[in-house]
Amino acid sequence: MYLFSVDVTKCERCFDCVTSCPRGVFEEGEMHPILAHPEECMGCGICLALCRPKGLRIAGLEAYGHADRMVAIA
Ligand code: SF4
Ligand code: SF4
Repeated sequence: MYLFSVDVTKCERCFDCVTSCPRGVFEEGEMHPILAHPEECMGCGICLALCRPKGLRIAGLEAYGHADRMVAIA
C-alpha cells in the first residue's frame, strides 16, 4: 500500500484530489483531504497531477514539498 502525506502549508483545500480519484481513496477533511480507502490506490497519479500547489505526496510515485512540513494523512 502507498504512503500518503500532504503539505498543510500548501494544501488549498480545493479537494480536486478527492473528486478526481477514480478509486475513492480520499474524503474531504476540515483541514486537508483524509484517507478513506488507501488500499484502493492503483498508483495512477491523477491526484498528484491535479494538485496545483503540489502539496500532495505519495511515496514511491512522486515527491513534492518538504519533509519537515509534511504530515501523514489518515
Ligand atoms: S488537490 Fe492538493 S491542494 Fe487540493 S485538496 Fe488535494 S492536496 Fe489539497
Ligand atoms: S494515484 Fe490514482 S488511485 Fe491513487 S489516490 Fe491518486 S488518483 Fe487515486
